[in-house]
Amino acid sequence: MPLALPDTGSGESEVNLQCVSMTTESAVRSEPARPTQTDLESIRDAVRTILKAVGEDPNRDGLLDTPSRVAKMYAEMFRGLHLDPGRHLEVTFEENYDEIVLVRDIEFTSMCEHHLLPFRGVAHVAYIPDGRVTGLSKLARVVEEVSRRPQVQERLTQTVADLIEDRLGSSAVGVIVKAEHSCMSIRGIRKPGSMTVTSTMRGSFRTDPVSRAQLMSLINH
Ligand SMILES: [Zn+2]
Repeated sequence: MPLALPDTGSGESEVNLQCVSMTTESAVRSEPARPTQTDLESIRDAVRTILKAVGEDPNRDGLLDTPSRVAKMYAEMFRGLHLDPGRHLEVTFEENYDEIVLVRDIEFTSMCEHHLLPFRGVAHVAYIPDGRVTGLSKLARVVEEVSRRPQVQERLTQTVADLIEDRLGSSAVGVIVKAEHSCMSIRGIRKPGSMTVTSTMRGSFRTDPVSRAQLMSLINH
């Protein structure tokens, strides 16, 4: 049982794309400016090219709509490129609570940037408020949007921690991510079921073994 149930909405209900200026994003992680929307036509052309390159006939009946389906899928899987996930943490509430807040088992699906294959799993996100708290569902929304980009699991973990640290000014932030990578399970080394675990500990979760042990026991409870 998660300590606090996140309102993850499983992604389907929030397909409304919201474009934000790249300056907001750059303030957090000096990233280069990107186009503000997905170029579906270019993806369709590229998919036709790939189909031809692997020896298929893109004009075969069953493949006719594939380029446009793939284009829509990529727009969905990479929609986080055009969003500022930190905006979910802009509204905070004053609260005297100064113990661990943990949202456990936030499910996500991301795309490995090395193979463009999905990796999926759960994130546990914790922080100790420094006078201000955020809505619990907001932490799940941050994970969801950060995952909707070409990613590596290490960066996903750190980006979520960075955003919470920057926007909430928390004294302690802990993010643990466990995921199965299809690039390891369906190709290459072919090890289905192997899980990759990454974690970022900030503040007292990093420096104080008691605080970290408390977090780990809440996660494993
Ligand atoms: Zn990969």
